[in-house]
Amino acid sequence: MAAVEALFHRQQTDDRWMDTAACKGLTYLYFPSPAERPQARERREAAAKMVCGSCTVNVMCREFARINHEYGLWGGESEDERHEAGFRLIAPIGVRARDAV
Ligand code: SF4
Repeated sequence: MAAVEALFHRQQTDDRWMDTAACKGLTYLYFPSPAERPQARERREAAAKMVCGSCTVNVMCREFARINHEYGLWGGESEDERHEAGFRLIAPIGVRARDAV
């Protein structure tokens, strides 16, 4: 196993909580489209966070994304917010890459 795989090997978890996700069918809100502009990102993430705010599995979702270094918005938390909380992406880019040392 390569070093990076050993560091970031996906945790085996009980994923049944996903069955009750409030975001089913709304994937477009949780991941950016190519070349998404900052203003569009703000609007998309605000809409996603509204859905997350009413989701019964919010805490489990956020924890899952943190542990597994997920991309996109999970549990009401964006990639940037997860990064700032100390849960880095596997391959950070841009501003996050400068902080990943
Ligand atoms: S917390 Fe948000 S991203 Fe997570 S399952 Fe619920 S609606 Fe989806």
